[in-house]
Amino acid sequence: MLKPGGTIGILGGGQLGRMMAMSAAQLGFQTVIYAPERDSVAAKVSGDFFCNTWDDTAALSAFVQQCDAVTWEFENVPVGPLAPVADRITPHPRALETAQDRLAEKQFVEELGGTPAAYAAIDTHEELMRAAERIGTPGILKTRRDGYDGKGQWRIGSVRDAEGLRALDVPAIYEGFVEFSAEFSVILVRGKDGEIRYWDSAENVHENGVLAHSTLPASDIIIAQLKPARALAAAIAQRLDYVGVLTCEFFATANGPVFNEMAPRVHNSGHWTIEGAVTSQFENHIRAVAGLPLGDTATTAQHVVMNNIVGKAASNALEVLGQPDTHVHLYGKKQARDGRKMGHVTQIVRPASSNA
Ligand code: AMP
Repeated sequence: MLKPGGTIGILGGGQLGRMMAMSAAQLGFQTVIYAPERDSVAAKVSGDFFCNTWDDTAALSAFVQQCDAVTWEFENVPVGPLAPVADRITPHPRALETAQDRLAEKQFVEELGGTPAAYAAIDTHEELMRAAERIGTPGILKTRRDGYDGKGQWRIGSVRDAEGLRALDVPAIYEGFVEFSAEFSVILVRGKDGEIRYWDSAENVHENGVLAHSTLPASDIIIAQLKPARALAAAIAQRLDYVGVLTCEFFATANGPVFNEMAPRVHNSGHWTIEGAVTSQFENHIRAVAGLPLGDTATTAQHVVMNNIVGKAASNALEVLGQPDTHVHLYGKKQARDGRKMGHVTQIVRPASSNA
């Protein structure tokens, strides 16, 4: 169990690391960031900053030596260079290996009894044509690696679209388009002793492949599918002997929950937990990594909406603070770009306070 004043290293320097570092600070821990980009919004609220490339094994080793515990906030950290220090990292990097390859991830989930979208591995243009014919169109071609927030994805409306796509030169998968009623994620935390707790699932709406908002309570179709979705997420966590926060994204369909993808980390669809749950995803991740007892994950509100601030300057964002129970989180990013997450706003409706 980490003692107050202990140091937690975070691989990755984005907003998830920033919010983790803020929770770590609350518990009296120091944080150290490791990220290749000089402009790290997590480093701005942390102590030391190792600004080194992901393949710099000497720097990674020095970083780990400086920390009492190490975790990550970015799921595309290359796994190879972590091998010499893998046993010092929580969760174990085997979770990264599974989540970084969409094909391995879907096969892993099927072995555990989960249902992903119909898919096929694509290495050649001929395979894409065959898959589009066998699985049908519309569908989505996705690179196996390095995709996030809708990047590395192409919508294939017809076999003719597939014909037009000749330039693909990285391994990919083709997925049949899922006719879903709603999207949701199961976010759980697993402690070092194997205890699992779940937050309530928000209903997620994406725009251009990027999460736009998450709302609680979720619609009835989602609530009705939580049991099998949670069971699958728990089986994933157990099989990986996972410690920390794990997210699994699902489509709610007429045939039950269809697994979309897992994120072995805290997740954008769980940002509402900072103000809307007894213990946030960030605090519970830090608690799990530090070997501390997990906090209660219960929702404390009747209604929650989390809106992302995407792709635009955040200069007017604080104006909404005049509204009741409204909370603004700005990530301190300098440049707004298309699709870039600059911050989020959480609006809560709670039961009346006893002092009202
Ligand atoms: P991903 O990066 O794979 O999570 O995709 C981002 C978003 O694109 C998802 O949350 C869905 O809204 C949409 N999407 C991805 N794959 C599919 C699919 N096979 N069928 C329908 N919608 C999809």
